Amino acid sequence: KPIVLSGAQPSGGLTIGNYFGAIRNWITLQQDHECLFMLVDLHAITVRQEPALLRERTFDGMALYLACGLDPQQSSVFVQSHVPEHAQLAWILNCYTQMGELNRMTQFKDKSQKNVNNINVGLFGYPVLMAADVLLYQANKVPVGNDQKQHLELTRDIATRFNNLHGDTFVVPDPFIPEVGARIMSLQEPEKKMSKSDDNPNNFVLMLEEPKKIEKKIKRAMTDSDEQARIYFDQQEKAGVSNLLTLLSCATGESVESLVPQYEDKMYGHLKKDVADAVVSMLTPIQQRYKELREDETALTQIMAVGAEKASAIASETLKTVYERVGLVARP
Ligand code: ATP
Ligand code: MG
Repeated sequence: KPIVLSGAQPSGGLTIGNYFGAIRNWITLQQDHECLFMLVDLHAITVRQEPALLRERTFDGMALYLACGLDPQQSSVFVQSHVPEHAQLAWILNCYTQMGELNRMTQFKDKSQKNVNNINVGLFGYPVLMAADVLLYQANKVPVGNDQKQHLELTRDIATRFNNLHGDTFVVPDPFIPEVGARIMSLQEPEKKMSKSDDNPNNFVLMLEEPKKIEKKIKRAMTDSDEQARIYFDQQEKAGVSNLLTLLSCATGESVESLVPQYEDKMYGHLKKDVADAVVSMLTPIQQRYKELREDETALTQIMAVGAEKASAIASETLKTVYERVGLVARP
């Protein structure tokens, strides 16, 4: 079975962008792939986190993963920091990555502009840790949103470079990016992507948000000043409306092409109401399952333990090979 690896940061509640761009695909890939899904807490601390909140969010994230349909029997579901090989391999790969390559990463540019007081080395090296996450498990496919495409290309470059120097060591992974939903945009600023760590909560919809709040946020979403309020798909001219159409398509499973004619003589308000209803009815059963799962921290801890164990078994093998290839003497 091909190997799949992916993760999300417990840097806030998961958004519908995270769901449509990534997590939803994890569930389908689970059927016929060997899957590993993590909460990447080591990535989350590249931006300052409140320790107590990070802990809560890690448990929240685990419960939400399960509520979305990740099956801990079928897949390995774990917390990144529980498997120390991620940090260990990241160090090695740091020595196989050029400053110039990291300088080109657009996420670093965006995030350092947002966090001018904390442009730390970890934030700069984020893509190297991500490469370690993927390469440790010899993953073939990495289901991610469009924003991670550049990082995955770097992962491929690092893997290829290492393989050329030291002989075949890593599988060179392919990104798995959905056709619709790979880039859900911010509700108030539809020219940028929706992000869970956005300072303005009106820019995102959280998967665990109350239906009333979801409706409010979607109804207030930025559209445009087209006097005829025409509804069609054009991400440049009609960024806000196109995002709403994408959300509706993702939540209902209908294609954007088949949705557009249905709104020919309708108003933005109609579209927003339909988007809100579709998103709420999609999220309701997930929210119900979440509530039950989140109550039992002991059970969640148990699942984390099993997941970490399964992941460690693979990760330690890869790291051992890498240490040998690099010339590190094995610990006697
Ligand atoms: P942060 O702002 O803290 O970086 P985020 O919302 O970008 O949070 P991540 O944990 O960085 O979330 O990413 C988790 C997964 O969700 C990744 O696969 C990423 O590509 C995907 N993703 C993130 N934002 C979007 C989006 N707006 N649309 C589609 N997919 C997204
Ligand atoms: Mg992100």
